[in-house]
Amino acid sequence: MTLNATHDPARKSWVDSANVRGGDFPIQNLPFGVFSTSGGARRIGVAIGDMILDLTALEARGALRPGGDRAVFDGGTLNAFMALPQVLWSETRREIADLLDVISGDRDVPLVKATDATLHLPVFVRSFTDFYASRAHATNVGTMFRGADAALMPNWLHMPIGYNGRASTVVVSGTDIHRPNGQAKGPGEDAPRFGPSQKLDIELELGAIVGTPNEMGHPITTAQAYDNIFGYVLLNDWSARDIQVWEYQPLGPFLSKAFGTTISPWVVTREALEPFRVEPPEREKPLLSYLREQTPNCFNIDLTVSLGFGGSAPEMISRTNARELYYSSAQQLAHHAASGCAMETGDLLGSGTISGTAPGSYGSLLELTRNGRDPLHVAGETRRFLEDGDLVEISGRCERSYRIGFGTCAGQILPAVQLDQDV
Ligand code: CA
Repeated sequence: MTLNATHDPARKSWVDSANVRGGDFPIQNLPFGVFSTSGGARRIGVAIGDMILDLTALEARGALRPGGDRAVFDGGTLNAFMALPQVLWSETRREIADLLDVISGDRDVPLVKATDATLHLPVFVRSFTDFYASRAHATNVGTMFRGADAALMPNWLHMPIGYNGRASTVVVSGTDIHRPNGQAKGPGEDAPRFGPSQKLDIELELGAIVGTPNEMGHPITTAQAYDNIFGYVLLNDWSARDIQVWEYQPLGPFLSKAFGTTISPWVVTREALEPFRVEPPEREKPLLSYLREQTPNCFNIDLTVSLGFGGSAPEMISRTNARELYYSSAQQLAHHAASGCAMETGDLLGSGTISGTAPGSYGSLLELTRNGRDPLHVAGETRRFLEDGDLVEISGRCERSYRIGFGTCAGQILPAVQLDQDV
């Protein structure tokens, strides 16, 4: 795909707040989400400045009909729209940009103030797969658990490593997360115990949402995989390190990552990200041909993690960039489908924790505090891992003369729920 009129940096909207420099949602962004007002039904919307364009209402009045005779904005999720042919994603984006354009626009379109809206999970997440695609993160974790010589497993430089996670506990930003209970055994302990995790952590990730499916038995190229991705969200893959380290062998993480995964409410389309495509890091080993890419499929997205306590404004604890990913989301998706696995509309692929090589650029507390050895000092508090009441916020943005913002991906930790069993 090439750049088109929807990427024109000079373009302005008649929604004034969309033209404020440094805002997340200018007319060049147009991310899709799901919202409601006053407890009403869920509607599909597009963020523009501090407003939301109501696509469900637009479709009902016949002003926008991407599905022709069939409504696609009346189901309370983006899935029906994402299942349409890719050319209709682009056409709809162009039509929305024209409606909101300062010159060609229609000032009678239905708009809702973002502050009057409640945002919901934007897609029905069919399946959630979590990868491990940042080399610095894999190296940091591997060094902590196995030593520097065996930091990267022998397969890591040859394929994106992943596992099948839980879709049922993927939640939208702002949803509280209960501290998980689980089984853990410290290195000096004779037997495992069951109780609230003592090493609750975050994972800063980019989430890719599959729009176009591939049929079971039919793998796809990396170029097809790039196109099949509808858009991207910020993702926090909450993790309980003490549960993880006891349970993960030999089949990988299980309950330590199944209790909650938070995503940002606005799906930034891959078309909006087109001007921000960058080459992945240099390949240390040549990849097998099914994983090779002819185009730069990584993105230059600035990412930050902030931590807040007791109502205080969150303070930044880490800053990194999605271009640190050694494997693009397209490579992750092509690899996922390579055996003939059917990937469906609404599948979510987590990139894995994104870390840079410098200490201030790590995407997990495990790395930032070296597994609790070097606590962080933030806003007068000391943290090795998360405590009850802590608030974590992830932000993401791409910058040129305008900003493509992802909004925030936030969650607060509630105390563990006691299991009422004493036998
Ligand atoms: Ca993860």
